[in-house]
Parts: sequence; structure tokens; C-alpha cells
Amino acid sequence: MEKQKLLIATRNKGKFPEIMEKLKDLPLEFFSLNDFDKSDFKIEEVEETAMTFKGNAIIKAVAYGAKLNMLTLADDSGLEIDALSGRPGIFSARYVEGSDQDRYEKILEEMKDVPEEKRTARFKCVIAIYNPKNQDISTFEGKIEGVILQKPKGTSGFGYDPIFFVPEIGETLAEIEIGSKNEIDHRGRALEKFKEAFLKNDLDL
Ligand code: IMP
Repeated sequence: MEKQKLLIATRNKGKFPEIMEKLKDLPLEFFSLNDFDKSDFKIEEVEETAMTFKGNAIIKAVAYGAKLNMLTLADDSGLEIDALSGRPGIFSARYVEGSDQDRYEKILEEMKDVPEEKRTARFKCVIAIYNPKNQDISTFEGKIEGVILQKPKGTSGFGYDPIFFVPEIGETLAEIEIGSKNEIDHRGRALEKFKEAFLKNDLDL
């Protein structure tokens, strides 16, 4: 059976393997935006102009899916920290310029006087699927609760993983391997819902 092509609309080198690993049992052939960039032509970045994860996931899925005329999955995700009134939220990727480490160090600095019991936070993720054949859009949501540490721990994963401790497993997201992270994290949970809908043929693909 010929596999249906699915564009995973990201250039994030951390996210692409995590998403593929989770969906590997589905009869799909995976592509990322990097597969369509040429040395002399790069697919234009879509601006995330919505004020919600869901709004931004839909903007990205529709824009890239229409541009490349492919079934497209886009996600928008981020970290909401209670002591920072929900920041960095939808601005997680661009909270401060620089590296992932610069961004989590900024958070640690902002939270240096916040006591243990007030360091609660969660990662949220919304997956949007856009089908250019019928313009159908479906969305799936997932989240994981945790606590922001005082110091980073662990080296795997990406983004804010080293400072996000998950009481349910007793480790940070940067201390566990991709497969195990996928089982429990926000993106894994949203992808699991997409997978269920796909296998039940609930999506008109
Ligand atoms: P997006 O690519 O617009 O969804 O931006 C999400 C940003 O939130 C990433 O660049 C990371 O900074 C952060 N983020 C989202 N998911 C994760 C995760 O699983 N671990 C660590 N950071 C994450």
C-alpha cells in the first residue's frame, strides 16, 4: 500500500524526530520543511500572529499545507509558569534572543526568589492537521504538569526540558530518552489523540 505523505511543518531539529517516533506505526511517509528547502530557495517562515497555541497551530498547518499542497501537521506549544502569570506561553520560542540555554537561564533568573511550592508550570501543545484536498482542519490538545527547578538537570531533549521537573516520574524532561518523553509529555499526549482519530478513520483524509 502506498503511504500517504504527511508534512510535519517544523524545522525544529528536536521536535521532528519526537513527532516521527510517536507516529511511526501509522501508514504515513514523513517530511519536514527542511526536505523542501533548497540551497537557493527557502520556504518562507509563517508568522505566528494568533494569541493562543490553537490559533498558531492552525495558522501554520494551513499556510504550509496550502503552500506545498500536502496533508500537514503543525504544532504550537509552550511553557506556562504560574509565578510568571503564564509566561513565556505562546512566546516560549522567542522569549529572549539567543539559545535555548539563554532562554531557560532568563526564566531561572526571573524566578530566583520564587519558593518551591509556587514553582508550578505546565507544557501545553496543540496539534493542527490541515488537509488541502477538502480544507478540513482538526485539532488535538495535550499538557503535562511540572515544577521549575532552581538549576538545570539533564542533557537530552530541547528547549526548557532541563528545568522542567515532572513529579510523576521524579526526573526532568531532559533526563529521560525521547521514547519515554513521548509517552508522557504534552506533544505525545496530543499526538496520541491524533493517532487514535486517524486509526478510527475519524479524519476525512
Ligand atoms: P513552537 O515551535 O512555536 O511550538 O515553540 C515552542 C517553544 O516552546 C520551543 O521552542 C521551546 O522553547 C518550548 N517547548 C515546547 N515544547 C517543548 C518541550 O517538549 N520541551 C522543552 N521546551 C519546549
